[in-house]
Amino acid sequence: MAKLVSLFISSRQQTIISLLLGCLLFAGFVGFAALFAVQQIHHTMRSEAQEALQPVIDVGVKIDEAFSALEKGVTAAPCSQPFLDQMRRVAYLPDGISEFLYAPDGRVKCSLSKGWSSQALDLGPPDTVETAEAPANRFDRDLAFLGLDGLVGSLVSRGPFALVVPKAQLSYLGTSWLAVELVAVSQSGVWRHRGGREGVHSQFVEAAGGGLSGLLPRLSESRCTANGRFCVTTEASFLGYLKDQKVGAVVALLVAAVLAIALADRGRAMIVRHWSFEKRFRRHLGPESVICMYQPIMELRTGRISACEVLARWRDVDDQIVYPDRFIPLVERYGLTMSFTRMVVERAYADLSAKVPDGHKLLVTFNIFPRDLDSKVLCDVFRPFLSEPDRFTVVVELVESDAVVVEWAQREIELLRQAGIQTFIDDFGAGYSSIHNLAALSVDGVKLDRSFAMAPADSLMARMLGHAIEMIHASARSIVVEGVETRERLDQLRSVEPPIDYVQGYFISRPLTPPAFREFLLKHPADPARLSIAA
Ligand code: C2E
Ligand code: CA
Ligand code: CA
Repeated sequence: MAKLVSLFISSRQQTIISLLLGCLLFAGFVGFAALFAVQQIHHTMRSEAQEALQPVIDVGVKIDEAFSALEKGVTAAPCSQPFLDQMRRVAYLPDGISEFLYAPDGRVKCSLSKGWSSQALDLGPPDTVETAEAPANRFDRDLAFLGLDGLVGSLVSRGPFALVVPKAQLSYLGTSWLAVELVAVSQSGVWRHRGGREGVHSQFVEAAGGGLSGLLPRLSESRCTANGRFCVTTEASFLGYLKDQKVGAVVALLVAAVLAIALADRGRAMIVRHWSFEKRFRRHLGPESVICMYQPIMELRTGRISACEVLARWRDVDDQIVYPDRFIPLVERYGLTMSFTRMVVERAYADLSAKVPDGHKLLVTFNIFPRDLDSKVLCDVFRPFLSEPDRFTVVVELVESDAVVVEWAQREIELLRQAGIQTFIDDFGAGYSSIHNLAALSVDGVKLDRSFAMAPADSLMARMLGHAIEMIHASARSIVVEGVETRERLDQLRSVEPPIDYVQGYFISRPLTPPAFREFLLKHPADPARLSIAA
């Protein structure tokens, strides 16, 4: 989970994600445009097929009408003069049907143009037999046997009547990307080409049941007359269509690209906003994400580790440990100071009550926000520590700031002292520190800002260190010198008179995890004779 989340946090990964998002969106838009194009192709295929089929349907209707008229109106004795007259009346209908025959059992007894025939002419076997829905059909017959020399036509028969109809055909082949074929289909499924581009229907039948041509769906379909005797099959080439619609395709690609870039950019901005440190911190700040480190503080005279400073860390959603300089300003900005301190204290109590070896009494110092200097609330917050006075003494470290009103602070400090909580001024000598506050506030100790101890030996700050110590001593407060990074500086501090109470810094120890802090305490027990750092 942490790994997954870290994808959204690093700006490099955010760029990769937005690129991927852009590609996906582009593919989506192109896919959408392709679907639209396929829809258009299908629409064109359907209308082309319908257009090609319509004349066949029209002729079929006329044939049906002609047969119905013959069956109804030609009732005289077959092939008699009245019979032929009745047949002529039907032939008079403007239906484009050119010849009427009386041909029971497929043998012509008489015809409208030739009258009675002495020898019955055989129509030959039908290509498609008669059914309830459709008449029998004999395609492309030489009509010379009917005296129509040089003409070819189809013979359609229903019951004893037969008609000569013009050949159903299709001269239109299609477009550059669309092929059309008209076929006549028999009951057995055998078809014969009747016009258009030959082979389209056979390919359609071969691929029946679906299939792909290359990576693109096969765009072919067949539409038939209601009786299934004639079908128009169309086949379209998707790439051919795109070539035909070059301008539209290029515009669609450009629009898809612009939209994808714009949306991916918005997506990136949303990811960046949602996963910004500030938003992450606000969403995930809780007791389980607050971690404490413990920096040992050494009593200079004895070398004993008699105190520690609790330093908060925050575990980011990607498991990275975040230092306070990044999140403390947010805690303040969002007014979370007291609840944050409460989380730190709870975590510290859980750690220290489990890890501090028995018999090791410890001064535990906490950084509190100046605005939270409220003895009532702080007593409640520190209750767990206060309930174990034999093991822990609580110290609150207070940085001077304009939020501290001296009279009010003095009263709260007094109340805290009565409850067993000591107060130290933190980072004295930096920021808002004032000698006036040092005199006016009855604090128990002062932590000298680390910039003094860390300054180069011959610098002004280093020279001021001695004066600052002298001044604090004069105020009769305990003194902690922070930022002791070298043995030389420690030795120098040892020689200061009157002596310094406590020292803290990387030379003694960096801030430690709870198990490491326990190890450290075990190695540096309360008995100063066994102490190694001070040696
Ligand atoms: P601070 O109260 O002055 O804490 C001491 C800082 O100095 C710590 O930094 C510590 O790691 C660092 N430090 C200790 N010894 C040395 C040394 O010898 N050399 C150098 N260069 N640095 C040393 P950290 O842990 O990053 O804390 C920074 C600040 O964040 C703290 O300064 C404190 O003001 C604030 N802070 C930390 N935890 C809390 C907390 O729980 N609540 C509040 N309100 N502030 C906190
Ligand atoms: Ca501090
Ligand atoms: Ca400090």
